[in-house]
Amino acid sequence: MTRWDDLSSDETAMLQTVFWSAGASRLALADRMACSKSKANSLVASLIDQGLLKETGLQGSTGGRRPETVHLSERLGVLIGADLGATSLEVAILRPDMGLLARHAETADVRAGPGVVLARVRVLMRELLTRCGATDKQVIGIGLGVPGPVDFESGQLVNPPLMPDWDSFSIRDYLREDYAAPVFVDNDVNLMALGELWRLQRSLQNFLVVKVGTGIGCGIVCHGEIYRGANGSAGDVGHICVDTEGQRCHCGNLGCVEAMAAGPAISRMATLAANGGQSAVLAACLRTNGAITPEDVAQAGRNGDAAANGIIQRSGSLIGQMLASVVNFFNPSHVFIGGGITRIGPLFLSSVRQSVYQRSLALSTRHLEIQYTPLAAQGGLVGAGVLAMQETLRRRGRVTA
Ligand SMILES: [Zn+2]
Repeated sequence: MTRWDDLSSDETAMLQTVFWSAGASRLALADRMACSKSKANSLVASLIDQGLLKETGLQGSTGGRRPETVHLSERLGVLIGADLGATSLEVAILRPDMGLLARHAETADVRAGPGVVLARVRVLMRELLTRCGATDKQVIGIGLGVPGPVDFESGQLVNPPLMPDWDSFSIRDYLREDYAAPVFVDNDVNLMALGELWRLQRSLQNFLVVKVGTGIGCGIVCHGEIYRGANGSAGDVGHICVDTEGQRCHCGNLGCVEAMAAGPAISRMATLAANGGQSAVLAACLRTNGAITPEDVAQAGRNGDAAANGIIQRSGSLIGQMLASVVNFFNPSHVFIGGGITRIGPLFLSSVRQSVYQRSLALSTRHLEIQYTPLAAQGGLVGAGVLAMQETLRRRGRVTA
């Protein structure tokens, strides 16, 4: 077990630096910590002695003596990451360097309430720990993503529209019965953004991650940190109006982008096209399966169905309309799009891009890049692991400072 209490604040800071650089030479670490090479050397030596850091392989040659790469040691312990979606749940055991040790995903319904869903999460955590030969005492931190607004300090959901039974339920207290390790809870889109931030080793400081699935949400990275806002609801872009005479949203308003362009809206538009005789392919799909999923629309579009492609373009264009305002307001360098929508393919992305570039000011789009998130479906879990590791180290840093 890690003897955190014996670490100096400099040693904790070094562990944080190694974590965020995902393996680096001593020289690079000294650079990142803005300290002397000799200080970095002695911190690394002490942490290697304690078994918390390890050296592996040789980094690419830059001429002269080749520097060893320093990583977090698996002797630190393991992390548990969990990602709850509206209709799915995923649990993983990760190494401190975010290497995946075990993972399980299955369908779930968050509306069943925290008692049912978390009981299942708890069972999976135990099974996965056993599968990788770890004990609950080796768990150093737990990160959990949920599909609703979270008050980050208390780790509780606040008025979650998709999951009313979870309001003010303490996930932290529930899991504390099993593990001594700290539990951190955040919105699923914030975790996707945190996962990207880690993947990029903080090389981008101001960017957005937009998740389009059943709903639409946005994770905001500002000055290299997740921006959560005054109450934890920053980035709740799904209810920005894109058509004052549009579809009624579950929030009660008309024309929210979520109601007009997310997964269920794509299915609704496809059903209308099928019933209205605009697409034989979609009509056949509706007859066979009883419903049309966004993936069905994508498939029909790839096969050249004009109605399907029109629906994909309409969805992308409306999301781009919303993003244009957000981009003008925030001026991000990148917008990464994730969630189930990424499976739809390039036509959706190009419609988003076209709409944003048409509507945003030239200055905010001059260097703007809009792309699908490279972490894809892994983003939520990686983010949960990053949250667990980062907040555990931060907390220890405060204790020892
Ligand atoms: Zn709404």
